[in-house]
Amino acid sequence: MAGELILIVEDNANNRMLVRDVLQSRGYQTAETETAEDALTLARDARPALILMDIQLPGMNGMDALARLRADASTRDIPVMAVTASAMTHDRHKIMAAGFDAYQSKPLNVREFVEAVRTVLAARDQRS
Ligand code: MN
Repeated sequence: MAGELILIVEDNANNRMLVRDVLQSRGYQTAETETAEDALTLARDARPALILMDIQLPGMNGMDALARLRADASTRDIPVMAVTASAMTHDRHKIMAAGFDAYQSKPLNVREFVEAVRTVLAARDQRS
């Protein structure tokens, strides 16, 4: 399936632009927001196929946003990939233990990132 909508939650404009360009060049549609609060609303309204979630955000952080998404029946099943500069091993464990579907660290390796997006979307298609 091509053209899925991917919601990018990232407060850094350069990172947001990179991710948007990479995804759009692969044929995905994108939506963007700088805050977790807006992401919760967008997730409910736009029903993205995947959410890319920065962890360190102004206001609500990405971990709390994930918990809110999972607590809401209308967003519970949307896969969420953490995209974070927290590259330290214990952070990765903590992030995956929180229930994220995948994890990519910044700076992004574009090829690995695209592969991870495809993997998560394929797993989602298997479930539905
Ligand atoms: Mn950030």
